[in-house]
Amino acid sequence: MVPRALVFLALLGLACGGTGSRAETAPNAAPSLRPCPERGVAVRVLGSGGPIVDDGRASSGYLLLVDGEPRLLVDAGGGVALRMAQAGVAPRALGGVLLSHVHVDHTADFVALLKSASFSSRADALPVVGPSGDDPFPALGPFLEAQLGEAGAWRYLGGYLREEGQPFRLRLDEVDVAGEGRELEGAGLRVEAVGVPHGPVPALGFVVHAADARVAFAGDQRLDDPRFLARARGADLLVAHHAIPEAAEGVGARLHARPSQIGAFARDAEVGELVLSHHMQRSLARLDEARALIAHRYDGPVHVAEDLDCYGVAAR
Ligand SMILES: [Zn+2]
Repeated sequence: MVPRALVFLALLGLACGGTGSRAETAPNAAPSLRPCPERGVAVRVLGSGGPIVDDGRASSGYLLLVDGEPRLLVDAGGGVALRMAQAGVAPRALGGVLLSHVHVDHTADFVALLKSASFSSRADALPVVGPSGDDPFPALGPFLEAQLGEAGAWRYLGGYLREEGQPFRLRLDEVDVAGEGRELEGAGLRVEAVGVPHGPVPALGFVVHAADARVAFAGDQRLDDPRFLARARGADLLVAHHAIPEAAEGVGARLHARPSQIGAFARDAEVGELVLSHHMQRSLARLDEARALIAHRYDGPVHVAEDLDCYGVAAR
């Protein structure tokens, strides 16, 4: 019998990564800032990588912009705070934050961004949406309590969580990953949040309705749950995570979608365009194979994200 703690350590270590293939691909060490369209809805990629930093990519993070204004941040992995600055976006400008799950490559820069944003007061609390929890992955509230609460490591920032009248505070909204999903509205946007299969990790996928466009952020997941398919159906843009090669087995395959699954999902959901992100060396090493597997199933445009890319979203 393998001790439970060792199972957890294995899951935590391999969750979005693991060592796997060490095939070398060119690092994305000096990304160039691609301009976003001035009008309409756009997705700025802040981090196109996973948990291993050897590819020079920031971990997971995306901005959704409307008419050039940053409205939502989706995930905040390591490096995302710096990429946001390189994109010319101040954290205080965010209208809300969506955290798909609490893996470190999706949350490590979150408090750093809060601290930066807190240097400017805002009239309303910053909305933050995240998943319900399960041991060893706490729900959004306990996750932030462990950092900012009375016994938290950064308890000097505890005012963010609880003090009415503070110049900077958060409004947390947990979504039960076991339910049918929730619809949240604010600042002219509508967000659908629904649980998605990411192994044992409570995780959410999001569909954002902005102006006439719909953008689906799959997050880390296997893309085999009908709840997310129903929500994402007809999206103008799908951001999917290309974390494993087709031949992946074991933990990686329990947590992520293979390229063939991404292609089948994009086809079944009838999305307008597909962005592949959350790359890792092991998946980039088989990128041509992944492209072919996807193209065999999905005939729409497929983009391979780099840090600081920007994709205008054409509403259909
Ligand atoms: Zn993950």
